[in-house]
Amino acid sequence: MTSTSHPHRRSTPQTLLLDADDTLWENNIYFERAIAAFISYLDHRVHTPAEVRNHLNHCEHATIAAHGYGLQSFRRSLIDCFEQLSDTPVTPEKHQRIASFAQSIADHEIELLPNVAPTLADLASRHRLILVTKGNPEEQTDKLHRSGLAPHFSAIEVLAEKHPTAYRNLILHHGIEASTTWMVGNSPRSDINPALAAGLHAVFIPHDFTWVLEHEVLNQPPVGQQLLELPGFIHLSTHF
Ligand SMILES: [Mg+2]
Repeated sequence: MTSTSHPHRRSTPQTLLLDADDTLWENNIYFERAIAAFISYLDHRVHTPAEVRNHLNHCEHATIAAHGYGLQSFRRSLIDCFEQLSDTPVTPEKHQRIASFAQSIADHEIELLPNVAPTLADLASRHRLILVTKGNPEEQTDKLHRSGLAPHFSAIEVLAEKHPTAYRNLILHHGIEASTTWMVGNSPRSDINPALAAGLHAVFIPHDFTWVLEHEVLNQPPVGQQLLELPGFIHLSTHF
């Protein structure tokens, strides 16, 4: 392809750091369904569903701080929430039922977001792609392999948390040139703001059902850095 047929494309190879959950494939919708099932199972006599949800968010904050991201943490948060709000003890039977809500997420097929597979193949022909996700390393690596997208990536990074220092370490570790590197993702809090703070460019691709713990106001890029906002993954091919 000549540059005149793609006037917005960067003319030199770039490094694209790509988020996974809710950028490449669906993720949060399964948690939302599991949470809805949990709330209706708890069927609290006093607290409204919104109040239960709010309390679960508090439980998730605490669990993640102590045990990191992943399904084990989610299962623990559901059980903590149930124990703290319920006036009856969590019997083994109830425990198993609550655990099944978390397990339903693990059993899901990987559901790629629209146009992700062909767009990634196209991008990989011109640029260096690195998967940058957070969570449980085993769970995230397993999802990547089940997605069929692994061959497009030159490296996989599963971070404990996506803060500016984690991005700076990644830049050092991979010998990345910040001026030609872009973090692509759906989360202002984890993908965009900390990447901009670490000196990278960023591409924000919003997802309608982004996890509430990932919500944050999008920062403006510092001078010399760029922030693109695209309506869907396919539009990456216009710019890269
Ligand atoms: Mg994400």
